[in-house]
Amino acid sequence: MAYYIFVTGGVLSSLGKGVASASLASLLEEQGLKVNIQKLDPYLNVDPGTMSPYQHGEVYVTEDGAETDLDLGHYERFINRNMAKKNNVTAGRVYYNVIRREREGGYLGATVQVIPHITDEIKRLIREVEDGCDVVLVEVGGTVGDIESLPFLEAVRQLSMEFGRERVLFVHTTYVPFVKTAGELKTKPTQHSVKELRAIGIQPDVILCRSEVEIPEGIKEKIALFTSVKKSAVISAPDAEFIYEVPLHFKEQKLDRLVVQRFGFEYKEVESKWKGIVHVLKSAPREVRVALVGKYVSLKDSYKSVTEALLHGGIANGVRVKIEWINSEHYRESALDEVNGILVPGGFGERGVEGKLRALTYGRERKKPTFGICLGMQLMCVEFAREVLCLKEANSTEFDPNTPHPVIDIMEEQKGIRELGGTMRLGSYPCRLVPGTKVREIYGQELIQERHRHRYEFNNRYRESFERFGMVFSGLSPEGSLVEVLELREHPWYIGCQFHPEFRSKPFQPHPLFVSFISACLEGQ
Ligand code: GLN
Repeated sequence: MAYYIFVTGGVLSSLGKGVASASLASLLEEQGLKVNIQKLDPYLNVDPGTMSPYQHGEVYVTEDGAETDLDLGHYERFINRNMAKKNNVTAGRVYYNVIRREREGGYLGATVQVIPHITDEIKRLIREVEDGCDVVLVEVGGTVGDIESLPFLEAVRQLSMEFGRERVLFVHTTYVPFVKTAGELKTKPTQHSVKELRAIGIQPDVILCRSEVEIPEGIKEKIALFTSVKKSAVISAPDAEFIYEVPLHFKEQKLDRLVVQRFGFEYKEVESKWKGIVHVLKSAPREVRVALVGKYVSLKDSYKSVTEALLHGGIANGVRVKIEWINSEHYRESALDEVNGILVPGGFGERGVEGKLRALTYGRERKKPTFGICLGMQLMCVEFAREVLCLKEANSTEFDPNTPHPVIDIMEEQKGIRELGGTMRLGSYPCRLVPGTKVREIYGQELIQERHRHRYEFNNRYRESFERFGMVFSGLSPEGSLVEVLELREHPWYIGCQFHPEFRSKPFQPHPLFVSFISACLEGQ
């Protein structure tokens, strides 16, 4: 059986618990341990797939086609393991399972209640990820004190009793505000949230203090005293410029040693692989500037995997990547003059589409490296049809169901689908790359697997006319029926893909399309 780390949060949400969990997990992996991470989300959506990115940031798609919380993206970027559907459990999923079982008569006449039926289901789902692991890290979403979090906290409390306290470590993430007028760090919110946690029956073993600044020894001592945690287990987690610095902060304070020894494993002195990554991010002499043209630019988490993948492409090329956020609803051409490349990411709905189309025209005509992802690729087709084939009313039927030129159309199997949750073309699908194309060269292999999340696709009726005018369909589904990747022949780098390459990019395995895109941006400088 595995050892368990439960990460809870206090005071505020958005403290970066996901990055903290992923960072600790990666340090444990560096110790040679087999680690898995799971996220528990207390909201009632069965999965975040139907939520607006404004609500919850990006929806991260796993290999097995689950639409999950963006923290799973951090987990995949930090540890050597692919996440799956079972790595994200929402209250909606838990209640759905329990109510379905009740309707099937599965509770044999019992009154179905939060305790024990909901908590038992939570415990069952937590145990689903432990196979073959030394340590499982479970991040409990939400904040201690929320009504919604209670069943989850109760379930993990019960698990700590069942496993034995020595097999479990509770890490509580809190916020230590710096009050400028007083010139002081304040520990009171931390004291209160730990008190709240204890009232539920959970005594934390480690306190992770998120703060704008480093937590000095004196403050650590105070927090240790009030929360009954050893001072060495009060960890300072100041704001970091790059998320990949976080494991290094933890390692400096010997958090990895504390956890490894607490579980009775042998601690090894190893140099963290994150050092090299952070070094390039911070001190690479050159910089490329990439315009990210999207409608959710006011909430940068909406494009988390894309922005991380761009950084990874930068790391591979030894350059820093500066992202220029361009709001597609207020598009101004001059904003693109200064950048080295343009990226139009995925998206849903018509808002901001015109701005994205104009940015694509700019990239195509001025021969700037241009990368279209999912909706970005679909708009490359609309733009090409309108401006090159002169089909001025060409569109996607997502935006104009009656367009005379539906160059992007709903997939046959998507027609008539009424239920929106989990019904898109989701997860990993194979794609065959055409020999002699740029994309085939970039990947260095013929058959690739990439993750999808869309309902619409390129309309094959237009393939021939597109090809006649210089568009190359360089990646197709293996039987040839779906366009997965396209590129422009007479352009240094104009590539669109129907899938989301950003979900597979990691700092240590940068995605080839992002590496090549950044390299093209660099060449064009
Ligand atoms: N809205 C488009 C579709 O459903 C693109 C989706 C996306 O960019 N992920 O096909």
